[in-house]
Amino acid sequence: MPIKLYNTLTRKKEVFKPIKKGHVGIYSCGPTVYWYQHIGNLRTYVSNDIVKRVFLYNGYKVKHVINVTDVGHLTSDADTGEDKMERAAKKEGKKASEIADYYFKVFKEDLEKLNIIEPDKWPKASEHINEQIGLIKDLEKKGYTYKTSDGIYFDTSKLDDYGKLAKLNVKELRAGKRVKFGEKKNKTDFALWKFSDEPGLRQQEWKSPWGLGFPGWHVECSAMSSKYLGKQFDVHTGGQEHIPVHHTNEIAQSESAFGKKPWVNYWIHFAWLLFKGEKVSKSKGGLYTLSQLEEKNYAALSFRYLCLTTHYGKPLNFSIEILSSAMKSYLRLKNIISEIKKSKDKKNKKNIETAKKQFLDIINNDFNTSNGLSFLWEILRDNKLNDAEKYELSLDFDKVFGLDLDKEEKIEISRDVKKLVAEREKARKQKDWKTADELRKKINKAGYIIDDTEKGVKVKKK
Ligand code: AMP
Ligand code: ZN
Repeated sequence: MPIKLYNTLTRKKEVFKPIKKGHVGIYSCGPTVYWYQHIGNLRTYVSNDIVKRVFLYNGYKVKHVINVTDVGHLTSDADTGEDKMERAAKKEGKKASEIADYYFKVFKEDLEKLNIIEPDKWPKASEHINEQIGLIKDLEKKGYTYKTSDGIYFDTSKLDDYGKLAKLNVKELRAGKRVKFGEKKNKTDFALWKFSDEPGLRQQEWKSPWGLGFPGWHVECSAMSSKYLGKQFDVHTGGQEHIPVHHTNEIAQSESAFGKKPWVNYWIHFAWLLFKGEKVSKSKGGLYTLSQLEEKNYAALSFRYLCLTTHYGKPLNFSIEILSSAMKSYLRLKNIISEIKKSKDKKNKKNIETAKKQFLDIINNDFNTSNGLSFLWEILRDNKLNDAEKYELSLDFDKVFGLDLDKEEKIEISRDVKKLVAEREKARKQKDWKTADELRKKINKAGYIIDDTEKGVKVKKK
C-alpha cells in the first residue's frame, strides 16, 4: 500500500517513491545542545519517530540521521549575535564540549523514555569541520561565495529559484533595501564560514583556507546529510520554523554544490507545541522538560500519547489538564489490553487482516496517528471482534504508536498513598473494617484503586 505524505516543497500530498527500492534515507534537524530539550522540542522528535516507524511498518529499510548542533548556531537567524554554545559555556563556566555532552546525554535519556528509536547516526557538527570546509570550497570554486570582513557568504542572487521551499517573494525581500544588512550583498545571503573576532576569544574555532573561525549553522546539515545519506536523498524533516531560513539555505547550498535537483525529494515539517497559543521556546524558558512532567507523576509515555492524538501538521496546545486527560486515556488503554491479553479465544485470520489493512490505510495517509488511535479505540469497542483478535491488533498497531501497550505499568505511588495502603492493611488485619473502608475511599480520592487479590493488595491508577 502506498505511503502518502504532505511535501512542503510542492505543497501537495504525494505518493512516496523511494530513490532506491525498499530503502528510505531520512535526515532530521537535531538539537542545539546548549540547554535541556523542552517538551516542544520533544514533540518534534516524537513526530520524527512516527514518520520513521510508518516506513518501518511498511517494510522499508530506514537509514535515519539526526545531527547534533554543538557549534555555529547563532542567536539571530541574520548571522549575527552570539554562538548559543559559546554563550552557555561562558554562563555555566564550563567547556563547550562539556555542555554539549551533558545536554546531549539528557536528551538521549528523554528519547529512550519516549520510546523514540535511536537514529543510525548522530553526527556532531564539531566533528565534521573538514566536510563543511570541503563543501564551502566547492561552492567557492563554482562561484557562489564572497568574502566580507566577518566571513564567507553565499550569494543567493546567483540562483533563480532561491526560496522555492518557502515560496519566498525574493524580489520583494530584496527591494526592501532600507533594512540594513551590513556588508552582505543581498538580504537573503547567509554565512558559510564566520571569522573569529580575535584568536582565542572563542573556545571552538578552526583553521580554514579563509582564516580562523567556525562554520555557519546551515552548512553542517548539508555536509553531514550528504556524507551519510548521499548527495540526493528521500526525506528531510524539521520544525516548521526552519522553512524560510535554515532549510531554504540548506537547499541553496546543496543544490549548488552537488548539482542535483531536487536535492531532497520530500520535505516534512512538524507543527509546534504551543502553550496559551504561543510556541514553546527555550528563549522563553521552555515551559517543561520531560523530567519535570515525571516529577509531577505523569508517565513519559502519556506525553507521547498526547502527541499522537494530534496530527503532526497541526499545532498542539499544551496544558496540564490536557496531559492529565491523555494520561487517563493511556492508562485505560493499557488496562484494557492487560485484561484482553489473557483471552484464549480462537482468532479469525480474516478479521485480523481486514482491520490491519484499514489501519495501514489510515496511517499511510500522511502519518495520521490521531485517526490511528481513534481506530484502535473503535477496534477495542467492536463487538464483532473477540479479545484475542483485539489483543493481536493492538500489539500490531503499537509498532507504529510505540506506546508499550503490552508492558505492565510500573506505577509510581506517592508516599502519602503508600502510607494509606499500609494503614488500611493494618486495619484489615485487626478486622477494623470501618477504618479499612474509610482508608479505601481516601485512596480512591487520591486517584488510585486497590484490588485485594490472593497474592496481596494491588494498587492501580484510576
Ligand atoms: P533546537 O534545539 O532549538 O535547535 O530545536 C530542536 C528541534 O525542536 C527543531 O527541529 C525545532 O524545530 C523543534 N522545536 C523547537 N520548538 C518547538 C516547539 N515549540 N514545538 C515543536 N518543535 C519545536
Ligand atoms: Zn538542519
